[in-house]
Amino acid sequence: MLSTMQDVPLTVSRLLRHGSVVHGDSQVITWTGDAAPERRTFAEIGRRCAQLAHALRDELGVRGDQRVGSLMWNNSDHMEAYLAVPSMGAVLHTLNLRLPADQLTWIVNHAADRVLIVNGSLLPLLAPLLPHLPTVEHVVVAGPGDRSVLADARPQVHEYEELLAGRETGFDWPELDEREAAVLCYTSGTTGDPKGVAYSHRSIYLHALQVNNAEAFAMTVADTMLPVVPMFHVNAWGLPHAAFMAGTTLLMPDRFLQPAPLAEMIEAERPTLAAAVPTIWQGLLAELDARKRDVTSLRNVIIGGAACPPSLMRAFWDRHAIRVLHAWGMTETSPLGCIAHPPKGLSEEEEWAYRQTQGRFPASVEARLAGADGTFQPWDGKSTGELEVRGPWIAAAYYGGAAGVPLRPEDKFSPDGWLRTGDVGTITPDGYLTLTDRAKDVIKSGGEWISSVELENHLMAHPEVAEAAVVAVPDEKWGERPLATVVLREGAGVDYAELRAFLAERVARWQLPERWALVPAVPKTSVGKFDKKVIRRQYADGELD
Ligand code: ADP
Repeated sequence: MLSTMQDVPLTVSRLLRHGSVVHGDSQVITWTGDAAPERRTFAEIGRRCAQLAHALRDELGVRGDQRVGSLMWNNSDHMEAYLAVPSMGAVLHTLNLRLPADQLTWIVNHAADRVLIVNGSLLPLLAPLLPHLPTVEHVVVAGPGDRSVLADARPQVHEYEELLAGRETGFDWPELDEREAAVLCYTSGTTGDPKGVAYSHRSIYLHALQVNNAEAFAMTVADTMLPVVPMFHVNAWGLPHAAFMAGTTLLMPDRFLQPAPLAEMIEAERPTLAAAVPTIWQGLLAELDARKRDVTSLRNVIIGGAACPPSLMRAFWDRHAIRVLHAWGMTETSPLGCIAHPPKGLSEEEEWAYRQTQGRFPASVEARLAGADGTFQPWDGKSTGELEVRGPWIAAAYYGGAAGVPLRPEDKFSPDGWLRTGDVGTITPDGYLTLTDRAKDVIKSGGEWISSVELENHLMAHPEVAEAAVVAVPDEKWGERPLATVVLREGAGVDYAELRAFLAERVARWQLPERWALVPAVPKTSVGKFDKKVIRRQYADGELD
């Protein structure tokens, strides 16, 4: 028997309409550096989204599911592209501005972007690529920055504000099929070409509901959220969409992502929530230690995208009374996979053990652990396997290009359609995931596995260590052994023997690294995570001896 319920499509235009009408007074605040922050209400954004859609359709001829790329920081203009482009039926392709030039060129061509909306400050990055982007017909420039680099550009160049000016502030948003693509986002291509994940209207909508759930980030109309995680990386974890659903004010850092301006904007605008990868929070913590700032507005900071060192969580709680919420996810999972809220009825100390896990799966995300022999492992908190997930906001394939078929590489999708995450860990009977490593980062030493993350977490708990990254390096006797690269705090005098002794009190002897390197900084990926492939290369090239 079929239900008797209405089948109403879950679309981005629904979020846009709701946010701009019901939460018209909520704001997107964009940090501008020295000048006063720019404030735009959701109502104003709603009107400007209509103007942008008119301009894209009537002036630039955007039709159907054509791709509109955005090369932009986190700011209110980007928010308008986020809402207007999918709502009119086109597909927003968020471009990771930190990708190497050849990969950026590759993804624009693969997606066949017709229009690029770009921040003026990023024109020096875009201009040299334009001759290699044959599908791009229009470049729309938003915000400050020298336009002269586009003087000889082939595509037509438009000013964002001029394009919007004087257009109608209402738009008859089409009723779309909720399964259509709304946003295209490519993974950072650590192996081979980048892979495109095409989020649907439905997946974005359902994911926003989950983000706002009390089991996740519990965003409300009373909150201000600071998404430091970039809008070009997994939709800034879905926070902009969730904000329009809940009426949460957004504080956007634009290009001011260094610890000092972040601390300044927190003090000035008093966000209650914030989200970023661990390296950003490490930097902010050091800044707060160096200079006193008022960060008392923050209730929760969400850390995900890489394992959060327990010492970082403790430090935020002990020194600033800020709770860290640890979360796990990936581009292919929209990204919300699990969130580490502890169960009820525990002591403070017992709670910590749960907070340090990657978190608990929500109802919509099913999880299983595939063991090395292909059998599924029990959820007993001990048995290890590769995490596989399934759910309404989890990718079923990668975008195959305009004429191509979707790609389902065997190492990423199981024959029965689950996503193979490449992450290895355990799950407790009550559904808490603990990741020991990425499959490709695990150190296989003489038939035993050493978790690089565990060694890093212990090292980063040492008071004189600022950052530590551990990678597998080839070893004649054992196959692989750990190499520990360490960044010391300013003025620290600790040596390897001392660090080794510190580790020896915490892990088994056979796991202790014999190889050490002091480095000025750990190399980072385009989204601020430790770049272990670069460390392995540096070691192979003899740069870390
Ligand atoms: P990439 O880092 O490959 O560019 P993603 O941003 O999609 O792409 O990264 C997803 C990966 O990040 C996950 O598969 C996992 O390895 C890692 N990750 C994300 N969150 C966490 C976490 N809380 N703890 C440990 N690893 C995490």
